[in-house]
Amino acid sequence: MLRELGVKSRQRSDFVDITDEVREEVKRSGIRSGICIVFSRHTTAGITINEGADPDVQRDMVDFLGSRIPVDPSFRHSEGNSDAHIKTTLTGNSTTIPVAEGELLLGTWQSVYLCEFDGPRKRQVLVKLLADP
Ligand code: ZN
Repeated sequence: MLRELGVKSRQRSDFVDITDEVREEVKRSGIRSGICIVFSRHTTAGITINEGADPDVQRDMVDFLGSRIPVDPSFRHSEGNSDAHIKTTLTGNSTTIPVAEGELLLGTWQSVYLCEFDGPRKRQVLVKLLADP
C-alpha cells in the first residue's frame, strides 16, 4: 500500500510533525504487522524521527543547522539554496518504522517530522506500508 501526504510547512526552515498523519495511514491500511516507510520526494526537505514532547528540541535543531550551514553566497548552485540541499542530506530523505498490532512502534518520546529547509511550501511525503508475509 502506498499513500501520499500533502504537508504544508510554515517557514523557510520548519520541522512539521506528521506522526498523526502517518498513524492514520497505518490504520487505513489495515496492516497489523510489517514496516512503514516514510519518504520525502524532495531535495530540500527531509524526514527524521526525534523528540515530540518539547518543541524547543525542533527549534534548537533548526537554529543549530541554520547557524552551522548558513545561506552562503560562495555556494556555486545558482538556485541559491545549497544550504537547504546540505541540511536535507544530513537529515536524510526517509525513515522506517516497525508496525506491530496495527501500531507504529515509536518510542514514547519519538515523533516523525518533515524537515523543511526551503519553505514555506507544500510537500509530498510518501507512506509505504509492507505487511509481513
Ligand atoms: Zn536547489
